[in-house]
Amino acid sequence: MCGKIGLKGGMRTAMKGAFSACVLVLLLSLHVGCSGEPQSTGRIKVAATVFPLYDIAQNVVGDRGEVLVLLPPGASPHTYDLTPQQARQLKGVRVVFKVGHGLDDWTRAIGDIWPGVETVVVDKGIVPRLSNDSEEHDESAEHAHMREEMNPHYWLSVRNGEMIAKNIAEEMIRIDPAHEASYSANAERYLAKLSDVKQEIEAQLSGLPNKRIVTFHDAWGYFADEFGLEIVATFEPFPGKQPTPRYLAELQRRVRKLGIKVIFSEPQLSTETIAPFVEDMGLKLYVLDPLGGVEGRNTYIELLRYNAQVIAEALNNGRR
Ligand SMILES: [Zn+2]
Repeated sequence: MCGKIGLKGGMRTAMKGAFSACVLVLLLSLHVGCSGEPQSTGRIKVAATVFPLYDIAQNVVGDRGEVLVLLPPGASPHTYDLTPQQARQLKGVRVVFKVGHGLDDWTRAIGDIWPGVETVVVDKGIVPRLSNDSEEHDESAEHAHMREEMNPHYWLSVRNGEMIAKNIAEEMIRIDPAHEASYSANAERYLAKLSDVKQEIEAQLSGLPNKRIVTFHDAWGYFADEFGLEIVATFEPFPGKQPTPRYLAELQRRVRKLGIKVIFSEPQLSTETIAPFVEDMGLKLYVLDPLGGVEGRNTYIELLRYNAQVIAEALNNGRR
């Protein structure tokens, strides 16, 4: 018995020795590698929780640094969880840019894993909208609670995109003051582009014959406010909550009364329940994308243009 343990212990020691040697070789080779690339350590590393913030941050950071995005394309921040692999990738990240207001609570573990990483909510100067202002007569405690919270989808207005870019630039200058000129110039250039996009979308949506829309979840209030659209209902009572039969009956009544012909779904959320509703009501289904990061919506600006285009097309087709 003792002999066996002794043998195992001996093997363990030998393996440990081999492992240590490997680590030493690895560290030495890394050291050699690093000394050969002086610039690799000079680039600042930051991250963003969702694609739109990531793209805005990339425009501000430019070639001064590296930006990571945490939410994979196609996932919904309302249902996603951070993976251990993603948490590991955050090694060396200085700041994580967040939406806040509950939308990126799935990243909370980052603070425990990397206590040195700062998280920055990019909402400074943004005029808040309350969550779920649809006319649902559900007085449950949970719903009452939701009503008091800021709607987190504020990046879906170009004006707010500009505020986000300014907030990110301010933060980058705070953590890396040596490159202030670079961040300021990048932000200025990007703000000019956003200003053009805003005018372009205003022109595209101002002449629509009908401006009433029914969206899948409560994400489009900021966009609607900016471009004069009216959200008359949402399919989900609030993000991630399936509609009850009573809620659907009320929605049906409203859609009929207002002569709504189109409804907007989203690629990140399960639309199984919306299909029968769309069919029963004889509606035409269009897809709005709040997050992007996929073909055709590979920048924040492309994402804004895509959504404006879909709404223009849908409301032109849905005229009475
Ligand atoms: Zn959402």
